[in-house]
Amino acid sequence: MTQSHPEIRDSVRRLCAQFPGTYWQALDRERAYPTEFVQTLTKEGFLSVLIPEEYGGSGLGLGAATAILEEIHRSGCNGGACHAQMYTMGTLLRHGSAAQKAQYLPKIASGELRLQAFGVTEPTSGTDTTRIRTFAKREGDKYVVNGQKVWISRAEHSDLMVLLVRTTPREETKKPTDGMSVLLVDMKAAVGKGLTIRPIRTMLNHATTELFFDNLEVPAENLIGEENKGFKYIIDGMNAERILIASECIGDGRFFIDRASAYAKERSVFGRPIGENQAIQFPIARAYVQVSAAAAIVEKAQGLFDAGEPCGTEANMAKMLASEASWFAADMCLQTHGGFGFAEEYDIERKFRETRLYQVAPISTNLILSHVGTHVLGMPKSF
Ligand SMILES: Cc1cc2nc3c(=O)[nH]c(=O)nc-3n(C[C@H](O)[C@H](O)[C@H](O)COP(=O)(O)OP(=O)(O)OC[C@H]3O[C@@H](n4cnc5c(N)ncnc54)[C@H](O)[C@@H]3O)c2cc1C
Repeated sequence: MTQSHPEIRDSVRRLCAQFPGTYWQALDRERAYPTEFVQTLTKEGFLSVLIPEEYGGSGLGLGAATAILEEIHRSGCNGGACHAQMYTMGTLLRHGSAAQKAQYLPKIASGELRLQAFGVTEPTSGTDTTRIRTFAKREGDKYVVNGQKVWISRAEHSDLMVLLVRTTPREETKKPTDGMSVLLVDMKAAVGKGLTIRPIRTMLNHATTELFFDNLEVPAENLIGEENKGFKYIIDGMNAERILIASECIGDGRFFIDRASAYAKERSVFGRPIGENQAIQFPIARAYVQVSAAAAIVEKAQGLFDAGEPCGTEANMAKMLASEASWFAADMCLQTHGGFGFAEEYDIERKFRETRLYQVAPISTNLILSHVGTHVLGMPKSF
């Protein structure tokens, strides 16, 4: 099968070969951040492909970015540590002022600044973003922020964070989506001066955290776009995020299929390769069919995005299908490996844990089904 961007894919594969399973296993045990991997990707320019050339990036489309993330994941590596460096800057690029873009984008492109923290989710609001409570009160030339966020990944490994806050209480707005704003937070300046970061240990190594804001002062000039219009700015970035995450799932799915088919050919039990048994062979073939179908819709969504066409439904469908296909492939691969699938050194159990996340974050499957049920099929909304 021909794949887009063969040269980029080849370079990514060669880079990833320097970071074998043993590298990820050691980090996983310690829940440590893959600093060396991220630095190498940054140095090679793979994290700045979406930044326009005038700001020092390579100005490529989402097609290049999906190829990069898919190959990272197919190689057994994990882009979750840094994928947000690729797309979080989109909020700044699309809605920031000329001065903000000139100040930050070249440094983000070079990797001097890491903008890979995205603060939306809160413990009490969950998926219902309009109910966030973190509030930024304007006081002269600054905002004073109070509240709490949860599941904010890479906060300890970011210089900047795109933060969604309320600037008008929900009760005082015409629409629940009004009254939210986006602030760019300088993390190094904030920690200890109103921002506390508390890591959350999870079933996968994802550097995720809880954030507590206690009178954190953010300069008013760090407001992105207009006050009270932040929800729209955040939504704008979500299609790209969903398509990119879907491409990671496609990479995971292909990793599991590669590993399972190789193992099924080589592992001999009862005097023959286990892959000769259709009960082993067919689930691998089924995973291949499902991942290939999901990849086609990911490519469709990416094509629409790059053409500037509406792609919300396709981005959602791509994320759902790809995350389900990768999960089916993960379960199949574990089963194909029998007991060895549980051994750390095979990397199957680690990838199994990693790929499960994508049916929950950045958006859970039910919410995607709700989008299709109401926006596409016109049925009544449950919320
Ligand atoms: C490892 C990890 C990293 C993350 N990183 C980030 C990050 O960097 N930044 C960030 O802002 N967030 C992040 N998140 C948060 C993530 O986006 C949310 O967990 C996700 O959107 C689901 O929200 P929730 O956990 O509050 O679930 P809830 O909203 O509490 O939902 C719980 C379950 O109920 C279902 N549900 C809720 N309402 C309905 C309904 N009306 N109909 C049917 N089903 C419904 C949901 O689908 C879900 O399955 C991360 C999460 C994890 C686990």
